[in-house]
Parts: sequence; C-alpha cells; structure tokens
Amino acid sequence: MSELIVTEIFYSIQGESSHAGLPCAFVRLTGCPLRCSWCDTVYSFKGGKRMSIDAILETLSSYKTNLVEITGGEPLAQENSLPLMEALIQKGYKVLIETGGSESIANVHKDVCIIMDIKCPGSKMHEKMMWSNLEHIKSSDEIKFVIASHEDFLWAVEKIKHYNLESRCRLLLSPAWGLVSPQNLSEWLLECGVKARLNLQLHKYIWGPRKKGV
Ligand code: SF4
Repeated sequence: MSELIVTEIFYSIQGESSHAGLPCAFVRLTGCPLRCSWCDTVYSFKGGKRMSIDAILETLSSYKTNLVEITGGEPLAQENSLPLMEALIQKGYKVLIETGGSESIANVHKDVCIIMDIKCPGSKMHEKMMWSNLEHIKSSDEIKFVIASHEDFLWAVEKIKHYNLESRCRLLLSPAWGLVSPQNLSEWLLECGVKARLNLQLHKYIWGPRKKGV
C-alpha cells in the first residue's frame, strides 16, 4: 500500500499564489533536503506520521473544498507524492503543489498546478536549484521568488529576464517575513515593471506569523 509521511493535514484560507484567498485543504508532507535561511516550516523537517493515500483522501473528504495543496517540507522528496496527486485528480480535486525547485517536476501530473520556488541567494540554497525544471513548467504553473533583500530582488529580475519567465508562466514575488517589507518590495516591483504579482502570505496576516496548521 502506498504510504506517505505526513506532518499535518488542515483546512484554511490559501495564503499564497494566484489562488490566495480561497478556502483550501493542505497536506503538509514531512522532510526537506533544503535548509532555507528564512524557512518558516522547520517543524516539517522531522517526525510526521505514516498515512496511506486512502487515509489522506478520507481526511480531505471532510473539508468543504475541492482545492487541495500538497506542500511541505519538500513534497517531491517523497516519491509517493506522485500517486497521491494522481488519486486526487481522479477524485476531481483541483491540485496545487508547492515545491522548492531542487527536485524534478518532470513526472508531476499535467493537471496539477505547480508552484515552484526559485531560491534566491538570501536563502543560501540557490545553488541547489534544478534549472532543468524550467523545461517542464506549463503556462498554468507559477514560479515564486522569496525576496530577503534588495540584492535578492535584483537577482530575481535578472533570472526572470535571462530565462524569459514573464512569457512562460505566472510569477510571484514574496517578501521574506521580517526581512523585507511589503511596501519596499511593492516599490521595487513598481519601479522595475517586471510582470510579476506581489505575493503576501495572507494566512500570517490573518492568524499571525507563527501559528501552525493554517
Ligand atoms: S524548501 Fe521550503 S520547507 Fe524546505 S527549507 Fe526551504 S522553505 Fe523550508
């Protein structure tokens, strides 16, 4: 039986991406090969409990939404995240996956909306990026840069231009909580005019920055 190690499953308001504001169920898988300097989910690195795909589906069925996000940790670090996504698509869910960019997205189901980070230097994980993932990004996917400084912002704009990302998918620029203010990032974005969306973590404004399970 296919099993995954799960940190938490919960129902909340989607805080990020172009789906922000929508009711959404979340499956947070355990484990991550990265260690971003500003990571806000270190509690997902270890522990968790083993759950079958059927048990995960059963839990999700109690929530009043057909929008599900698989997140982590790094969900693609568990190979059974692929059959989980396929089972969710078969059940009629709209599926999002949040991935850090270091694991291959090549085998993710075509109907899944991939939200992939490109880690900036401020994360200290930018050298772990699997750049070949850009070959598999669809126009319905989203690429997110978490910006921890003005240097990160300039680096992100350079990558956006270099890889012609504006014409490939939706782009998200997110201020690293406590390191860059939404106002500063907004001003940089307006000034440079790159076609990207300011991505605030809505759930932190609603429930505070440290609350788990939202
Ligand atoms: S990829 Fe995500 S979960 Fe992993 S260390 Fe970075 S921010 Fe944390």
